[in-house]
Amino acid sequence: MTYSDGTRVVHAGLPEAEVGEPFLPGPVFAAPYHLDPADGPGENGYARTEHPTRRRLEAAIGELEGGPALVFSSGQAAITALLLAVLRTGDTVVLPSDGYFTVRAFAEGTLRDLGVKTVLAPTAGPYPDFSGVRLVLLETPANPGLDVCDIRQVSAAAHAAGALVAVDNTTATPLGQNPLALGADLVVASGTKALTGHSDVLLGYVATGDDALFAKVETWRKQTGAVPGAFDTWLAHRSIATLDLRLARQSQNAAAVAALLSGRDDVTGVRWPGLHSDPSYAVASEQMRRIPGVVSFDLGDAGRVARFLTAAALVFAATSFGGVHTTADRRAQWGDDTAPGFVRLSCGIEDTVDLLADLTAALDQA
Ligand SMILES: *Cc1c(COP(=O)(O)O)cnc(C)c1O
Repeated sequence: MTYSDGTRVVHAGLPEAEVGEPFLPGPVFAAPYHLDPADGPGENGYARTEHPTRRRLEAAIGELEGGPALVFSSGQAAITALLLAVLRTGDTVVLPSDGYFTVRAFAEGTLRDLGVKTVLAPTAGPYPDFSGVRLVLLETPANPGLDVCDIRQVSAAAHAAGALVAVDNTTATPLGQNPLALGADLVVASGTKALTGHSDVLLGYVATGDDALFAKVETWRKQTGAVPGAFDTWLAHRSIATLDLRLARQSQNAAAVAALLSGRDDVTGVRWPGLHSDPSYAVASEQMRRIPGVVSFDLGDAGRVARFLTAAALVFAATSFGGVHTTADRRAQWGDDTAPGFVRLSCGIEDTVDLLADLTAALDQA
């Protein structure tokens, strides 16, 4: 029996039903566990390497991504683990020029110092010739500009040149697209965003169907230690049960907000891959099962963004995205290379009619 998304997330990673036990067992707080005095380690010896709460979350994410998963203490812990576990001195990595800026900063610092060469490519292409490349990291939709690339097509070209392909699936979530099924070797993501969705947990993961790559990343994590704590792990698992419901409302809100913003002549550069007029629409609608709740646009300058955010009652000024509350971030304040009036708006799960009214009033006042 294959179930639909709402059913899959409710049951993802849960143990077999047992009378008198909870559906999702509570977090296990342990660093070392009791050992058998004679036989030594069993299933659990030390929490950096084995943890029952973590195994259940990994089973859940693995089911949703379609390949075994390893969770990390943040998205950056997962992405840097992948890069450092796979790349060696003299290797070349292709990274998105318009993706999560901390990944580029890491490449320009640590990776360069290790003798790893970085080639930047825009998510929408054109992509360089992949010969001599060890790893291509895609981010689609890209954060914050929301361009989309054809995972199947880029994976085929990379594989033909002998390169590995990893996809940052943060913005889409595993209910939005499954990069492993589209030909990628690995998925990496921040679970801090829509996957957990309550703005209260930092989480990351790597998933792959390749046993050797999995073992490499698992050994890396075991030896470097960036594992999430038991309570965060449990909170994340609990939150995944509502992923389908949250994404449905976020996506519905984003469709309405993108239409509203596109119709105003005091807002420019509206991007949402679900808009028919969006440059990413064709690839997104072919490749993605649903379009995330993030919309980007430009209000011209920092002052106007500040007036808009001050006037809005339902839009919190905050970085990150994918949470149940609507938030907006003027990315340039963090020193990334977006325009001063560029805003990434993350639609929450408020009622659409309330959100539209609030945005309209705030834009009118700004
Ligand atoms: C937030 C984000 C990350 C980093 O995740 P953290 O959990 O903040 O470490 C990586 N990639 C993308 C696309 C992100 O949005």
